[in-house]
Amino acid sequence: MTELVTISLGERSYEILIGQGAWSIAQRLAAVSPERRYAVLADANVLRLHKDFVETGLGHLQIAGAPIEIPEGETAKSFGMLEIVLSQLLERALERGDAIIAIGGGVTGDLAGFAAAIYKRGIDVIQVPTTLLAMADSSVGGKTAINMPQGKNLVGAFHQPRLVVADFAFLDTLPKRQLLAGYAEIIKAALIGDADFFDQLEYSNRDSLTALHLQAHLKTAIQFKADIVEADEREAGQRALLNFGHTFGHALESDAKGALLHGEAVAAGMALAFDYSVRLGICPENDARRVKDYLKLVGLETGLGSLPGAPFTAEAMVERMRHDKKNAGGAIRLVLARGIGNAFIHEVADEADLLNFLKDKI
Ligand code: NAD
Ligand code: ZN
Repeated sequence: MTELVTISLGERSYEILIGQGAWSIAQRLAAVSPERRYAVLADANVLRLHKDFVETGLGHLQIAGAPIEIPEGETAKSFGMLEIVLSQLLERALERGDAIIAIGGGVTGDLAGFAAAIYKRGIDVIQVPTTLLAMADSSVGGKTAINMPQGKNLVGAFHQPRLVVADFAFLDTLPKRQLLAGYAEIIKAALIGDADFFDQLEYSNRDSLTALHLQAHLKTAIQFKADIVEADEREAGQRALLNFGHTFGHALESDAKGALLHGEAVAAGMALAFDYSVRLGICPENDARRVKDYLKLVGLETGLGSLPGAPFTAEAMVERMRHDKKNAGGAIRLVLARGIGNAFIHEVADEADLLNFLKDKI
């Protein structure tokens, strides 16, 4: 059974299809405009593991040339790779009315989305996320980017997809570690703004998490993000709440030099955000305890000393947080919580205290 979430952005509204079988509805794509040609950009691992499945889903479409293979890993989000992709699109003579289909995780989605945003001043992109992280987060909302030597995601564009197809069949081959990392972004939605959703998450994990539960949770998380994107597409205000756990998380991620997956860093970052909120006297200790217990229960580590990439350096983390592109006017900006489901934006007044807090944690 597939479920549907719609993002309403006027003329640029689009649907997100979620669940087993979503990819087989590729006829919908053909129905969007039958004369349209598509170029496929696909993650190298996904192409290797799901070649037949990918081709079946594309059966009814006019595909321009062989799939453009995106090598695995963050380094593919580069200017060099972007240029290769753009040349390949030109070689396939893709026109303004044609579209890109991006099949892969957040790396492929971000790169393909940015290529679509600038190719011939913008063409459509259809996102087919194949990691849980990409399904829950990166394929939805229209942020696209590549990395620069100075930092991640520094060059990009807002470019909403035309359609998102999140088929669980892809998840069968996703390593457990990657699956868990993606799950962190689902938990994030609950922690930011939906205490009932957090209750449901806790409840469904009493037994092992079924595919049905996962689908329901994914849908709730996507709906949560969709509502925020509809209200604040360009992150002028509340969309910044989606960075919950991310300022601490990015600091851990960069200090770990590649040893830590993004979602793992975000999970530990969310635990830090709760503990720091308790320290500032704005969040009940019991809420922080519940969050950390739940993260641990599902298998997401929150103790900094036990994380891949440890030991971390508090000074390096604060330095990294100072340079976060989300900061405004010099102060470190964090998303903190008054409790589960009640996140808010906070500007750090006492950096020395933040440093001491991190030192205690490390
Ligand atoms: P990823 O795209 O690197 O994929 C992770 C790994 O899984 C890769 O090795 C990939 O080859 C492999 N893989 C993908 N699908 C698979 C499958 N079905 N089976 C087996 N292996 C598979 O990483 P990710 O976690 O999906 O995304 C991380 C990226 O997303 C980062 O670059 C981050 O900046 C970006 N991101 C963007 C947004 C946004 O709003 N645009 C939001 C969050 C994250
Ligand atoms: Zn994230």
